[in-house]
Amino acid sequence: MPLHLQTPLFESGAMSARDGQSVWLKMEAMQPPGSFKIRGIGFACEEYVRRGATRFISSSGGNAGIAAAYAGRRLGVPVVVVVPETTTERARELIARENAQVIVHGASFQEANALAQSMVTGADAFIHPFDDPLLWQGHASMIDEVAAAGVKPDAVVLSVGGGGLLCGVVEGLRRNGWNDVPVVAVETVGADSFAQSIAAGERIELPGISSIATSLGARKVAEQAFAYAREHPVRSIVVSDADAVRACLRFIDDHRVVVEPACGASLAVAYDAAGSLAQYKNVLAIVCGGVTATVGQLQKWAGN
Ligand SMILES: *Cc1c(COP(=O)(O)O)cnc(C)c1O
Repeated sequence: MPLHLQTPLFESGAMSARDGQSVWLKMEAMQPPGSFKIRGIGFACEEYVRRGATRFISSSGGNAGIAAAYAGRRLGVPVVVVVPETTTERARELIARENAQVIVHGASFQEANALAQSMVTGADAFIHPFDDPLLWQGHASMIDEVAAAGVKPDAVVLSVGGGGLLCGVVEGLRRNGWNDVPVVAVETVGADSFAQSIAAGERIELPGISSIATSLGARKVAEQAFAYAREHPVRSIVVSDADAVRACLRFIDDHRVVVEPACGASLAVAYDAAGSLAQYKNVLAIVCGGVTATVGQLQKWAGN
């Protein structure tokens, strides 16, 4: 049995905005570690164990670190997660709750990541948060489930951080013969490394991340994500943090599920389906989830 769950897929009554238009939700927020990441990370971890790995090492203080910790506990493999001092107490607790060892090191991700990399021996597998073909192969299973349900979307809306989800969804579309289905790639202002790369015609590196959607905070996207933007129909949209937070709060009322602003960015576009996605009849929104923001934090960001 894989480490991820088969997630619900249903048509949103709240989002299906105009006559004849449907917005379908793929509820990755329901995965036990709270996000889609367990699909790819679970798949990769199982493969690394087959190849002889006896320990997993991660440097993500976000949903990737939580997914790696969950995968390790389920597989009986010890996990070390090195996080910077800026990582919230909540994220540290969520990782530790899965019995992973949390090492707090350095002022920023760069330092924590350098220590994590230096710890990797021949018996370890380093679990990258987005840039690993095994991850993409695992993420692609969410599209297999949509195909098995008999729903062919006219467009897929998803969030982009480092582009692992994008690569996985494009691979899923291709392996189901849906090469013509466009992907709408959403980021927030200040975490828009993909949008800026497309505009520049080359992979750019952001000097820093200024969005609250920290799970989208990769300063540079994976090379394959940028390559797919040329080989597959991909459209890039950037929304504000405020739009993302508003969409998260609205989603709680509409569907009774809490997600991070990283996911809210895609939800903001899905809520506006009658506007920016008007040409598509069946829109599939990947509700990628995320557990590092609480309802209280969302309300604080919204200013109420
Ligand atoms: C990781 C993550 C993303 C971005 O995924 P990438 O593969 O880095 O593009 C978006 N939303 C949530 C909740 C995440 O955990």
